[in-house]
Amino acid sequence: MKFGNNLEEFESLGDDHISTSSNTPMRNDAFKLSNEEKIDIIKDDVRHIMETLGLDLTDDSLNGTPNRVAKMFVNEIFGGLNPDKKPSASTFDNKYKYGEMLVEKNITVYSTCEHHLLPIVGKAHIAYISNGTVVGLSKMNRIVDYFAKRPQVQERLTIQVVKELQEVLNTQDVACVIDAKHLCVNSRGIRDIESSTVTSEFGGKFKDKAVRREFLDYIKLDTKF
Ligand SMILES: [Zn+2]
Repeated sequence: MKFGNNLEEFESLGDDHISTSSNTPMRNDAFKLSNEEKIDIIKDDVRHIMETLGLDLTDDSLNGTPNRVAKMFVNEIFGGLNPDKKPSASTFDNKYKYGEMLVEKNITVYSTCEHHLLPIVGKAHIAYISNGTVVGLSKMNRIVDYFAKRPQVQERLTIQVVKELQEVLNTQDVACVIDAKHLCVNSRGIRDIESSTVTSEFGGKFKDKAVRREFLDYIKLDTKF
């Protein structure tokens, strides 16, 4: 998709939450600066925003906010932009010869909408059918968390999780469904607190209707402990 260099076009693109690529758009010089250097610059930027809004940064309650926000951006909520943070790809042989699908459901998703920089909160459900390789269960949680810690659109997050697992597991037979609330929809704009967004990506055998149905039925199971 190509768009003209027109601010209104970009504004409506963002409000409609349309994604332009399955890769996070990154600059070539993204990691020229160290984390500390980034925090130092962002701190001043946050201070500038707050001062422009008319806030008195000498107030004890506000004084530490620029530094706190800068550290949170770089180390936490956007920490997944850095490929060094990608979970290591340790895999195991499928010793049990388990040939059915494995589903990891209700994985907590905390991400940030890249169009408004507001939280996306929800659940991811992942399934795969082993091709001889398996991953530790928590690996799926870590992969979701890694890609979630970026400015995101939910469609891209869903695709990135599936692509990464396809690579790690060396199979196309991976699926992911994400159901999440976008605070940019819930708390501003249309202010619809009830609506949530569902996205899905079905690879390999999951394109088959029966296999897909099985996965979706497992997600619907109400697990009680
Ligand atoms: Zn948004």
